[in-house]
This record gives sequence, structure tokens and C-alpha cells, in this order.
Amino acid sequence: MSVRTRVAPSPTGDPHVGTAYIALFNMVFARKLGGKFVLRIEDTDQVRSTDESESMILESLRWLGLNWDEGPDVGGEYGPYRQSERSAIYQAHAQTLLDSGHAFICYRTPEELEALRAARKADGRHTALKPSDLMLPAAEVEKRKAAGAPYVIRMMVPEEGKCEVNDMLRGTIELDWGQVDAQILMKSDGMPTYHLANVVDDHLMAISHVIRGEEWINSAPKHKLLYQYFGWDMPVLCHMPLLRNPDKSKLSKRKNPTSINYYKRMGYLPEAVVNYLGRMGWSMPDEAEKFTLQAMIEHFDIQRVSLGGPVFDTTKLSWLNGLWIRESCTPEQLAQKLRDWAFNEDYLMPVLPLIQTRLEVLSDIVKLADFFVAGQLDIQAEQFEFGKLEALQVRKILQYSLWQFEAVRSWDRDTISQSLSGLSQALGLKMKDFMMPLFVAVSGRSAAPSIMDAMVILGSDMTRARLRHALDVLGGPSKKEAKAWEKEFRAMEL
Ligand code: GLU
Repeated sequence: MSVRTRVAPSPTGDPHVGTAYIALFNMVFARKLGGKFVLRIEDTDQVRSTDESESMILESLRWLGLNWDEGPDVGGEYGPYRQSERSAIYQAHAQTLLDSGHAFICYRTPEELEALRAARKADGRHTALKPSDLMLPAAEVEKRKAAGAPYVIRMMVPEEGKCEVNDMLRGTIELDWGQVDAQILMKSDGMPTYHLANVVDDHLMAISHVIRGEEWINSAPKHKLLYQYFGWDMPVLCHMPLLRNPDKSKLSKRKNPTSINYYKRMGYLPEAVVNYLGRMGWSMPDEAEKFTLQAMIEHFDIQRVSLGGPVFDTTKLSWLNGLWIRESCTPEQLAQKLRDWAFNEDYLMPVLPLIQTRLEVLSDIVKLADFFVAGQLDIQAEQFEFGKLEALQVRKILQYSLWQFEAVRSWDRDTISQSLSGLSQALGLKMKDFMMPLFVAVSGRSAAPSIMDAMVILGSDMTRARLRHALDVLGGPSKKEAKAWEKEFRAMEL
């Protein structure tokens, strides 16, 4: 069997370190065994998927040196590699399942689904909805069909019993069919769900090993069943442990920067980031901390992955990055890295128009533009004392902006400006006053050339990291405050 692995990101946000982590292990596994590594874009969520996110994902994986053999940009014999271009394939496969009685058309409305779930719960049963709960009498189906009511296609699933799934790292896992819904395969917009598209594509793209995050284990029974329904062999499954914050919670952008863009902007070297990701749950046979991608490939054995949740700790990453800079760069290479990083036209062009009018001599650039190249700023609590704002308001402005930015999908000037002005109104503050803490947090000074343009240039993760840092400097919200604030924030109509 020829080895073929894939990474299958959904382009719905910033390029996540978790995606890079999964890509790395898939790539290394394939390279070690002389196989192929495929990149597939899972963009069936038409509302949340964006081209911008797709290009950022491709760019950041490439920056890390995680090159794929087949993908939407490089082509390959199993394309197209973007799911939105494969609709007809999924429709045909859904039809096959309808014809063989392994799937059914479901006209249930959201209200009916809710009532059915509540009824199951009241009976003390699993709340997973089964075909027997969902199917309507034939006459009712006809009536809704004639009325042109929206429908989905769902898969048949067993009512109860155990499902056994094999995992390369975990052996046989037993899961309970009782908990498994009659999964939607085709949505009412005619697009497939992850489950159908993923299984169909893994099969048609001849994927031999599915190495993916642990969060997908519960989907494995449905996938196994779909392979059976189609009469296909199932690829070997391997669920990698989830990356965690230092407090062991699941790595999330609320607590840590999770975007590769941030690590790039901060000036981490791609070699060090890949090296660190390779240390997440895996180790070299000699336990070396510092190793190249090539060395990882040479020594790779997936059985050395340990399942205890690996902690993604930026302090450790910085330490490792330092080793790479000190030990593995000549001054010439370092100069090149600095050029690649920020001292180049691409990065400076948007910055210069913002400060040119204030330059008298070129060396003024250091004081005027330092915050565009800096990582975390050296700011003090006193800088956040403003006559017009109380200390509590300052912390709230920072925290609420942070929450607001977490939800922003497209990081551009208009969106940032709208979301901040909405927030200042909701807090009953004049925009000018509201912005004061943000100036200090993002630029380290009380006035700066257009702070919103600066936020765009710095990127969403760096901007948020600076807001988080400012909150830390100010002592953040207490636990009690955090709860109350979150409630207040959620209730705001922004
Ligand atoms: N699109 C899924 C994701 O974003 C892929 C999961 C898988 O690898 O099967 O994580």
C-alpha cells in the first residue's frame, strides 16, 4: 500500500498552530515512509470560509517548510483539492446512500428537533436523535415535499450497541452508538457536512492514514459506518493529542496567541516553530530538544507519540528560538532573517506613510516606529491613568475590545473601526476617550499615528497579545469581575 496522508484545514480564520502541528505529523509520517502528503481545503461551510483565510493557511504552512505534494495550488491527479469545487461528487454519493437505504431525507424543522431532544431527555434516554425519532409518516413527507419545504439528508445509524474503532496510538477504542445522532450528510443548502465530504474525499484521494486531532475521535464511528455503507476500506486512523495551554486547558486564542501569523510577526524562526511543534507529544530517540525537520523525518516513529496533553508554552518556544538564533545562524544568515522578517519593503511600505510627516531625520524612525517591529511592549500601569476614565473603565475597555476582536473575522480597518465604535457607544463613552487605553496598549504611548492602521499592520493576534499584556500589567479582571463583565459584554448588542 502506498502511504498517502493529508491535512484538511477549514479556511475559517487565522492559520492556527494546531493546523501546523497536524500538518507536520502528517508530512513527516509520509516522508519517512516515502509516501505523499496532500493538502485539502475543507470549505463546505460557505458562510465562514474565506479566500483570505485559505491563502493565509497556505502561506504559513509554506513559511514553516511543510510543503505538500498535491493541493489546490499545486494540483495533482486526485483534484480538485478544494471541497467547494467537488459538490457534484458529494451529491452523487449522497444519492448512492439514499438509493441503498443507508440515508434518508429529513424534513424536520429546528423546533421539532428541539422538542424531540427534550422528549428523549425527559425519558432519561441519550439525546442523540435516531432515524426512528426523525422519520415522518409518508403522507407528511409528501405534504412537505409538495410545499417545497427545506430538507437535509441524514445517515442511518444503529440505535444502540458498541462500536469499535482502531487507532494507531490508542489501540481499539469502544464508543457507544446510543450517543450517535442520525448525522446530517447533506445540508439544506445542498452542501455536504464535514463527515460525508471527508470520508468521500479520503477515499477518492486514496488517503491511507488519517492523522488528525483528538477532537475527531467521536466522529470515528460515523466515518467507519460510512466506509461500510460505501463498501470501501477505511484508512488507518491516528488521533493526535490536543495542544494545551500551560494551565492544561485546550489551546485557545483567549489565553494564548494561536495564529502562525503572530509567531511570524513576533520574529520566531520557522525552524524553531517546527522544531517546537515536533516536541509536542513526540521526542527524538535521544531526547534532543533541538532538531531539524530533516532529522525528525529520519528518526520518525509515530509510536513515540505520547498521549498526555502536550503543553504549548511560548516561554519554552522562545528559549528554543534563542538556541536557533545563537547556534544555527551565521551573522549573514541572521541579517537575511531580519530582512525576511520586517526590514523589507513589503512590511515597511504600509508603515512609512503613517510616520513620514513626522520625520526630521531618518533616525527618528526608531522612536516613531518602534512599536511596529517590537513584540511585547514595556508598558507601566501609570501610563493608563487618564483624567477622563476611571481605572475600572480602562480595564473594561481593554477586556471588552479583546473579546470583540476575538470575534472579528476579517481583520481590516473598517471592521476594526466599526467594532470599536460600537463598543464605545455601548459603554457610553466618547470615541476619543475610549481609544486612550488602546493607544497605550498597542503603541506604548498616549498618542500614535493612526492606531487602527497600526492594528491592521500588526495583525489581529499581535494586537490581542498587546491588549492581554496591558490587562496583565493592570492586574486584569478579578475572577468575579470576569464573570460579571462577560455577562454584560454578551448582553450588549454589538
Ligand atoms: N476540516 C477538519 C478540520 O478543520 C479536518 C479534520 C480531519 O482531519 O479529518 O480540522
